[in-house]
Amino acid sequence: MAKLGMGLMRLPLLDENDFTNIDYEQVNQMVDAYMDAGFNHFDTAFVYHEGVGEDAFKKCVVERYPRDSYKIATKLPLFVITEESQLEPIFAQQLQNCGVDYFDYYMLHNVSGFTETAWKNVDLYSFIQKKKEEGYIKHIGISTHGNAEFLEEILFEHPELEFVLLQINYLDWEDENIESRKCLEVARKYDKQVMIMEPYKGGFLADVPEEAEKIMKEYNPDRSVVSWAMRFVANLDDVCVVLTGASTLEQLENNIQEIKDADPLNDDEYKILEEVSEIINSNITVDCTKCRYCVDTCSEDIDIARLFDLYNKHKMLEKDDWTQHGNAYLNYSKLPDVGIASDCIECEVCLEECPQQINIPEVLKDVAKTFETEIYGFEN
Ligand code: SF4
Ligand code: SF4
Repeated sequence: MAKLGMGLMRLPLLDENDFTNIDYEQVNQMVDAYMDAGFNHFDTAFVYHEGVGEDAFKKCVVERYPRDSYKIATKLPLFVITEESQLEPIFAQQLQNCGVDYFDYYMLHNVSGFTETAWKNVDLYSFIQKKKEEGYIKHIGISTHGNAEFLEEILFEHPELEFVLLQINYLDWEDENIESRKCLEVARKYDKQVMIMEPYKGGFLADVPEEAEKIMKEYNPDRSVVSWAMRFVANLDDVCVVLTGASTLEQLENNIQEIKDADPLNDDEYKILEEVSEIINSNITVDCTKCRYCVDTCSEDIDIARLFDLYNKHKMLEKDDWTQHGNAYLNYSKLPDVGIASDCIECEVCLEECPQQINIPEVLKDVAKTFETEIYGFEN
């Protein structure tokens, strides 16, 4: 069975409006609970928590545990790479941020057709191979949200890659954009190690519509909703790590318990998940996983991930009381230095960053219509 990886993408915050204001005390407790449970794989990236994610790893893990007790995976930020000369300084900075002499796993971050235009003249693959030969990386790979055909092209052209980090969960298994199943099959064909991200699809699978929850609970009242998602991924053949990005100690403890209890699904349960997927798909308005890749690119400082989350939650409830998500939107709009949905100037810069291929400016129009026009009649 796969091991649990601790993703450091959505760490607890002391100020929910400041992604750099990390609750280090709670992260220390989470790291201790995770290590005590017998796991040791941490996953971060140059861009997580607006650039302080790797530093959080150093503070909470490197400065508190011996180097041989954990594995660290991080990622080269392709989003900012336009020329070769940037590679060495960024890599050196990452070693320094993390406080280590080498990375166990190093990935090209979010390789996709969209990001390719910026770095197509930069030989990223030779760079990471060279760093491996120099002893700064143990294993090289990619993270990608591309489809199976795209993945096949990369793995065919780059046999030096040892592993892939893929978005896999029961909802995306047969999704025609994500193609989780087909991507896993391609990775197997090329004999790559597979790590999984988004097993709960950014939290969607922890908070399914009532109708779907009812079906799961009727079949087995003792199993939590999220356990179905974990059991689905943890038992896939050839998967070595399942990453979850807990935001609280409680969530992390639940993840630990879920993977320990993750016995294989039976045929009836697989059928139930197909039914549940149909219900969820008919309820999701925006397929946003809250990865936040788009947020830093927005010149209007719109917290796209946060607004889409509010919008989804609002739409998911049959009768949403405006005091819930409408008020949350109003509170957001009053924060200093943030853009609201109607501030979008449709520059489309964010589109290149979105692994879920969401038409962000179009959806923001709906968000603005719902929260600004229909509820509050904002004047912008
Ligand atoms: S299209 Fe809108 S949301 Fe996207 S980067 Fe431009 S202003 Fe920001
Ligand atoms: S809109 Fe796309 S890039 Fe932005 S947070 Fe959501 S999934 Fe990520």
